[in-house]
Amino acid sequence: MTNDLIEKADRVMAATYSRFPILLTHGDGCTLYDANGRTYTDFVAGIAVCNLGHAHPGIAQAIADQARRLVHVSNLYYTGPQTSLAEWLVEHSFAGRVFFCNSGAEANEAAIKLSRKYFKDRGSPERFRIITMEGSFHGRTMATLSATGQAKIQKGFEPLVDGFEIVPFNDLEAVRDAITGETCAVMLEPIQGEGGVRCHAPGYLKGLRELCDQEGLLLIFDEVQTGMGRTGRLFAYEHFSMTPDIMTLAKALANGLPMGAMLAKEEVAASFTPGSHASTFGGTPLVAAAALRVVKVLVEEGVLRNCERVGRYFRDRLLDLKSKHAFIREVRGKGLLLGLDLACDGTSIVKACMERGFLINCTRDHILRFIPPLIIREAQIDSLIACLDSVFEEMAADNSSFA
Ligand SMILES: *Cc1c(COP(=O)(O)O)cnc(C)c1O
Repeated sequence: MTNDLIEKADRVMAATYSRFPILLTHGDGCTLYDANGRTYTDFVAGIAVCNLGHAHPGIAQAIADQARRLVHVSNLYYTGPQTSLAEWLVEHSFAGRVFFCNSGAEANEAAIKLSRKYFKDRGSPERFRIITMEGSFHGRTMATLSATGQAKIQKGFEPLVDGFEIVPFNDLEAVRDAITGETCAVMLEPIQGEGGVRCHAPGYLKGLRELCDQEGLLLIFDEVQTGMGRTGRLFAYEHFSMTPDIMTLAKALANGLPMGAMLAKEEVAASFTPGSHASTFGGTPLVAAAALRVVKVLVEEGVLRNCERVGRYFRDRLLDLKSKHAFIREVRGKGLLLGLDLACDGTSIVKACMERGFLINCTRDHILRFIPPLIIREAQIDSLIACLDSVFEEMAADNSSFA
């Protein structure tokens, strides 16, 4: 069954993904099951999406209840769940207003459009350029891939959308030097996710906030991956004693139903007026009802606390591994967005872990990324660490250059 399906998928689907040859059928918490009855402990969570794990009964109930009542009516009318969710997000963040959409790329598109319009409305139409970072990832639409600081994402799709200046990561002076009379905003991830779980030096983000204030620029945080509790706080900016002007969310917002959001301070959001931006599906009652339950579970059922505690435990165990294996260059990240920077290729390690029943991810070829559901337990982390330890030991035995 698995091989037939894989053959069929590879025949009829756009070949945009290179996938692992397993067919996943169902899940439960941090466990996934394949069509051959094998089980996997999930340290990928659908790429930092299923923060509450798979088949969460409360979320399933919220989706089922709302599906029986009302799925979609368009944004021509008011609906309850999206209003309650926007109210919750405003109450729990720096923001004054929320725009709902369906993905991270779309949320970033909204942030880019809002930044341009904000300066048009202030009589500075020449200010439309946005400074972004090397190694960043903001999505795959034309504007967001143009904002993304990775050549491999842009290659083949030129000409790029004009108006993005990409500067070196974690370099405040480089941002200062790139600012011109045409700059309107700086956009970045508070921790780079796809770029390899890269954190900034202490003080950088606060310094960037001060620079943006001095220069009158908007500061946009792409929290598509870091948001919704992933780093141990609801939003990653909370770690850095500062706030952005605009923040984008998606991935974990509805625990797997497609949903994005752009949040902005009241005076910035005021530049979105009736007709200036829209999304047919944005904030349907169905996805909003799921997200409302997500935020309730995250805060009221101790998931955020678990993420912080278990994240620290996980990080310490990765540091134990680092002290044992010389080819581990660095342990990075916060909460349950953790990375191991290796001096060797990571793809074969991902495969070896999968064969042993653990799903992990590798970015930039040599950085193992761990982004499990935030409900993961110490015992599951211990099992993964034992698995990694044995894979690393075998690698060292196979290749004396690692020893
Ligand atoms: C995943 C991701 C995106 C893109 O989200 P999509 O929903 O795939 O469009 C944008 N920014 C960051 C930081 C991401 O991690």
